[in-house]
Amino acid sequence: MKYHLVSFGCQFNSSDAEKAAKLLDDCRYRQTDDLNEADLVLVLACSVRQSAIDRIYGLNKKFIQIRRRRPLITALTGCVLKSDMPKMKKIFDIVFDITDLSKLVKLLNAKRPKQKGQSYFDLHPQYRSKFQSYVPIMTGCNNFCTYCVVPYTRGREACRKAADVVNECKDLIAKGYNEITLIGQNVNSYQGKINNVQGTIGFAKLLLNIDKIPGNYRLRFMTSHPKDLSDELIDVLKKTIHVMPYLHLPVQSGNNTILKKMNRNYTASRYKKLINKIRKAVPGICVSTDVIVGFPGETKKQFNDTVKLFKEVKFDMAYIAEYSIRQGTVAAKMDDDVPKNEKERRKFVLNGVLEKTALSNNKKYLGKIVDVLVEKYGRGFCSGKTATFKTVKFKSQNDFTGEFVKVKIKEAMPWGMAGELANSN
Ligand code: SF4
Repeated sequence: MKYHLVSFGCQFNSSDAEKAAKLLDDCRYRQTDDLNEADLVLVLACSVRQSAIDRIYGLNKKFIQIRRRRPLITALTGCVLKSDMPKMKKIFDIVFDITDLSKLVKLLNAKRPKQKGQSYFDLHPQYRSKFQSYVPIMTGCNNFCTYCVVPYTRGREACRKAADVVNECKDLIAKGYNEITLIGQNVNSYQGKINNVQGTIGFAKLLLNIDKIPGNYRLRFMTSHPKDLSDELIDVLKKTIHVMPYLHLPVQSGNNTILKKMNRNYTASRYKKLINKIRKAVPGICVSTDVIVGFPGETKKQFNDTVKLFKEVKFDMAYIAEYSIRQGTVAAKMDDDVPKNEKERRKFVLNGVLEKTALSNNKKYLGKIVDVLVEKYGRGFCSGKTATFKTVKFKSQNDFTGEFVKVKIKEAMPWGMAGELANSN
């Protein structure tokens, strides 16, 4: 039996796809990159944007074509809204909750050698990369930001045991992995059991425990919520060796009324103070963010507060989304009254500010030698990331994928930098 995986959306689905791959491999299924030769197609859905759901409907056309010629089993998991379930059940043979992933074996009538644990966190992944890995530390979210589907699709927060997280990291580092990214919807609220014994530790302590593992590796994490980012965590960013000087901290809006309507539980000035504190503690740290433009009721004046915040904070990168209704959320009951062309204009304006701040931040690297973890090679160029998560490209006759190299920065662009190998003449 051959299976094909389709993963939409964020790194959580990519990580879950790795767990699913291991589970199916254990059942002696073989993975194929070609949907046309698969006996089983497993889709990991994303409901954060309607476009990802529309792509599933597009896939259904392909399923119908294949089924005209031969049998095909289709399964769906990931982030699926209750309201989309009836339609999805018509498309897919099997629909299951991602936290029930181990039950897929039974649903497929397959056989898998006996395993120690069967819970979602017990399932080991089949890492796609040989040098970078996501390590899930928690799933779900308790925050109920009014525009977000995650608390409905992934449920409430559940944290993985700290010892299991540390052991997975140890194992990866021993295997030579040089970048680990801890993932969770809101890692700052992590409270994991130390082991099977009573007592829990928070995210800052978890990072400290991983940082103690010797080796040449980078430790990253995402995503953080500003309301839960503690002084203890800032201290960890400051004093650890392996935790990288990069922080993704979604702001979503620069206007307090909109932040309140989003149920974000912080103000714009608190966010700015937090960034200042972090930059003071960790000079040179790079900061990226998420922002939504055209949230229901957002006036031009309120949007201008976001522009102002962007100018003040001088982000290195931002993921700017035009608001779109997600059924089942609180915001879906609000009037989506900002016209599409106005949302596009606001996105364009913010992008313009970001382009300037990102370029000016990148120019500070000119002439400096930075460590780059090379992620890919093609057409005579290597491309990778600095410790601060900046993309760097350089000409090379050799493929350094998976290695750390020193690069002298020669050119700065808004979305990346170019340089040359520091040890080449
Ligand atoms: S913190 Fe808010 S935006 Fe992030 S997953 Fe939770 S509800 Fe969604």
